[in-house]
Amino acid sequence: MSSTYKVVMEPGFNRNANGNNSDNYQAIISYKRNEIKLDPELPNVIENLFHELTHMVCHHLSIEMEEKDVERFGEGLKHLLIENELLK
Ligand SMILES: [Zn+2]
Repeated sequence: MSSTYKVVMEPGFNRNANGNNSDNYQAIISYKRNEIKLDPELPNVIENLFHELTHMVCHHLSIEMEEKDVERFGEGLKHLLIENELLK
């Protein structure tokens, strides 16, 4: 796996004029553009980053994982790296 991804912080990228998230995602990954887009104004931006990183690894290693498992794995990665202060 040797792809470089760009992480783009774009406030409100998926919210409409009322501030609502219309299609129920808070971050997005593009395998075509090698890009992860996050909304830095959301309180769970770190969780969203680890979630999208999990999708990225699954995509590149052809691992099939259901969304609920991506959620749990991303949370576990965050816990491992951040809460154990391995990544600051
Ligand atoms: Zn997802």
